[in-house]
Amino acid sequence: MTTPTSGTTLGRELTLGILGGGQLAQMLALAALPLGVRVTVLEPDAQAPARLCARHLHAPYTDPAGLEGLAACDAVTLEFENIPVEALAALEGRVPVRPAGSLLARSKHRAREKQALRDAGATTAPFEIIEAEGDLDGALARVGGRGILKTSELGYDGKGQARVSSDAELWVAWADLGRVPCVLEGFVTFEREVSLAVARTPSGEVAFGPLVENVHRDGILRTSVYPAQVPQGTEARARELARAVADAWNLEGLITLEFFQLPGGDLLVNEVAPRVHNSGHLTQDGGGLSQFEAQVRAVLDLPLSDWAPLHPTAMLNVVGVDGPDGQALEPDWAAIDATPGTRVHLYHKAHRHGRKVGHVNLVAPDADTLRERLSSLEPLVP
Ligand code: AMP
Repeated sequence: MTTPTSGTTLGRELTLGILGGGQLAQMLALAALPLGVRVTVLEPDAQAPARLCARHLHAPYTDPAGLEGLAACDAVTLEFENIPVEALAALEGRVPVRPAGSLLARSKHRAREKQALRDAGATTAPFEIIEAEGDLDGALARVGGRGILKTSELGYDGKGQARVSSDAELWVAWADLGRVPCVLEGFVTFEREVSLAVARTPSGEVAFGPLVENVHRDGILRTSVYPAQVPQGTEARARELARAVADAWNLEGLITLEFFQLPGGDLLVNEVAPRVHNSGHLTQDGGGLSQFEAQVRAVLDLPLSDWAPLHPTAMLNVVGVDGPDGQALEPDWAAIDATPGTRVHLYHKAHRHGRKVGHVNLVAPDADTLRERLSSLEPLVP
């Protein structure tokens, strides 16, 4: 570890360690380099995206030599929540880890996360913790008769989830999910989904990202749009909730909150990612600071202020899809390129089916043109 990073100024050569080497690490590394920051990732997958633009320590997250490599950095962050907390525990005290293991322990476990959100003063969907068969009795009625059963750990992109609308379905769903600890959430009839990131530097500077509107398909994010079309006061409320969580959870680094916006305008917190988020990818091309640079700055205690695109911006995810013949269905790249204001971002993944393999950002001169062009872009991506 070199000198402490508290109140760091730009212009110094710094090193950032990242637990995880997926596309988020790739984009963090690409944002870090122009700031004078070199990135080292610890990542067990030899083919992971960040291998191409960062030093790749190819080892399990708990590998002592791998962790040694991260401990030699100025600070360590993460791009993936399913990191064993032991990996962070092994680093703490040797190098600043931001966010800390205590925050990761909350955000990677749905039941603990929901409780910690409520303790921070945020409202969530009604929920019941399911740990044993006896917990199923009456649980669905208590959350409103319709719900989503989600595994407490290791779920992402709609995986490890099942919609249920009867007790019989709930019992089957719990068996199908392997009878592991779960959270049963009441089904929320939301008007739209929005998200917002907050970052806090170790020096105590707090900054917010833009409020973004999100649409999911099959549990996976499909599009994000900025500005979000929301009732007045929604962004201020989202910031208030984000600040409350950042304070209560002693944030150092960056977290992203996903919300359900209800018809009356109220916000429920769905979940918290301890890192940059897919819904923030549009900040790469809107002309302002990107979420990736914001996380790098927050973690290394570099100066940081609010970030948001300077122009209306959207993102369309590209997920690997196979056709009926088993061949990958490719987006119409030529037509995407020919749409004004597009920028393509690819993740170099070897295994593609069902996985996020890239995204397209779209910038437009005004919000109406943005939504029109996004509608014509969508059919180009299977
Ligand atoms: P999650 O993995 O919890 O973010 O869920 C993925 C997506 O499923 C969310 O973004 C929503 O579109 C939908 N979803 C999750 N939980 C609920 C809920 N309690 N009520 C309604 N829709 C939900």
